[in-house]
Formats: sequence, C-alpha cells, structure tokens
Amino acid sequence: MRGEEIVCKSKIVVIGSCNTDMVVKASRLPVPGETILGGTFYMNPGGKGANQAIAAARLGAEVTLISKIGYDLFGLQALEIYRSEKINTEFIFTDQKSPSGVALISVDSFGENSIIVAPGASRSLSVEDIDKARSKLEEADIILMQLEVPIETAEYAASIAKSYGKKVILNPAPASVLSNSFLGSVHTILPNRVEAEMLSGIKVVDADSARRAAMVIGEKGIENVVITLGKDGAYVKEKEEYTMIPAKEVETIDTTGAGDVFCGAFSVYLSENHTLTESVEFANAAAALAVTRMGAQSAIPYKREIAL
Ligand code: ATP
Repeated sequence: MRGEEIVCKSKIVVIGSCNTDMVVKASRLPVPGETILGGTFYMNPGGKGANQAIAAARLGAEVTLISKIGYDLFGLQALEIYRSEKINTEFIFTDQKSPSGVALISVDSFGENSIIVAPGASRSLSVEDIDKARSKLEEADIILMQLEVPIETAEYAASIAKSYGKKVILNPAPASVLSNSFLGSVHTILPNRVEAEMLSGIKVVDADSARRAAMVIGEKGIENVVITLGKDGAYVKEKEEYTMIPAKEVETIDTTGAGDVFCGAFSVYLSENHTLTESVEFANAAAALAVTRMGAQSAIPYKREIAL
C-alpha cells in the first residue's frame, strides 16, 4: 500500500428527486393558447435531490441517493449519470406506473423563464422505500433532504434518522408548511429567502429581517438555521448565536442550482466535523464557484477547486 493515500470519506445519504430538465429558448414566452416557434432545445439532468447528491459526491463524500425514477429512458439516463459520479444508486427505486420526473422550461431572450415540473415517480417515493434503505440511514454521517418528494416520506425518514442519532439537514424547497414534529427531527434547516418567509411569515430582504426570520424558525424546535441570501451570502443562527456570513464576490454567469451546491457543500463539510460557521464558509465558496459557470449539474465544482 506504500505510496497510496487512504482517504476515509464521510457518508452522506441524500433523499430527493431526480428530474430531467427540458429547455427551449425562444424570443418570447407564449401567452395562453398560443403556439410559437422556439430556438435551441436542450436536455439537462436535474432535480434537487440529484443536484445535491452530485455536489456532495464531487466535494468529497461517499453518497447514497434515495429516490425514484420511472421505467423509461430518462430514468435510465439519469442512473448512468449518477453512476459516473460514483453515487450509490442501490436505493433509487423504479416506479413501473409513473414516468420519471421532468421540468419543462421555456426561456425568453431576456433570460426570463416559465417552468412546469411534472414530478412523476418522485411523488411515489414512499415510507416503505425508506424502510428498505434503513441500513444506509444507520450508517450515514449526515442525511440531507429536500421537499420534492412527498412530505410524509421526508418526515418519516427524518424521524428514523433522528432515532439513529443522525444529523438531518433539511433544504425546505419548494416552500411548504411543515409540522413542528418534522422540524423537531432536523439538525439544520437551510431555506432560501422565499422558503424562510414561508416558514416564519417574515419577508426576508436583509440581515435584520433574516435574523428575525431565523429566530422565529428556531422557535419551532430547530437549533440551527441557515438562510441563504443569494449574492449576499448566508445568515446563520447557531443555537443562540447569530452571524451574517458574506458570499464570495465573483463574476456571476448563471445562478441556476447555486442553492443545491450550497446544501451539498455544507453537508459535506459538516460531516467532516467542521463547525457550522466553517461549513457555511465552505458552502459559500463552492456556490460562488458554481455561479461563475453555466448550467446546474455541469457547474458543480470539485473539492480540489475550492479555495477558502
Ligand atoms: P437557486 O434557486 O438559484 O439554486 P437559491 O434561491 O436556492 O438558489 P440562493 O440564496 O440564491 O439560493 O443562493 C445560494 C448560495 O449561493 C448563496 O448563499 C451564496 O453562497 C451563493 N450565491 C448565489 N448567488 C451568488 C452570487 N451572485 N455571487 C456569489 N455567490 C452567490
């Protein structure tokens, strides 16, 4: 073994969606009832679960993705991508009755978009599926989840993870109303501004409103709250301490998926026993790099690229 570096990776389980983004560019968006001719069409792998799993894998963790795809070409293509990223796909289940999730995205010449997500098989990820993957939850250092799967499934997974003494990181996207019992199983919640407003009732526009929102969210039984604030960085409530951690200043090309990179990076650093603040600094650095590049999964950085 001489000369070979033995790296012990932390183990992260991501529970979430796998989608395929289908994007058409056009000079403008059609109005209801109208058909217009578009320009370029392209397909990109996406879904918050998959994006965050790839981010965690590229940033150095051993990742298992628990998800559901349909019995179709999109699902098979997605599996190939995850395997090439060295993600464990053993618990990506196949739904014989639903198609794989897709997002239909139209983008106009100003970059304005309209999106319809058809979650397909992601909506049938069940508590029984989580039970099948219990051994992985028990082995994991961190469990990371979002809300593009049924909330009852996410809540069940969080309660199992908590019973095993694991840290659950919740990115509450899309914005949803959540029960206090679900929130009570969460170690750190990572909302963006919109989701923080949904959870707290406070419009988040700056550090002061982020502090008030973090306080209200914390009162629901969560010790740690990290509100992402786009180019301004992230506002952190760690137990009783409140800190604003500024983003890195970079030339912004495309912010798609920045939140997913942030969540994946934060989870990796926390799983490596760094502090919450250090993990947010690492996540800011990783997400800043992602916004300097086009695309979502294609923009996700590798560990060796991150400079703190
Ligand atoms: P998205 O939906 O685009 O994935 P989001 O709304 O979930 O993003 P944001 O709060 O916009 O999440 O951004 C997440 C993190 O990405 C921020 O906390 C910051 O670290 C980084 N980030 C986003 N935009 C920029 C930017 N323009 N410059 C530097 N960092 C950025």
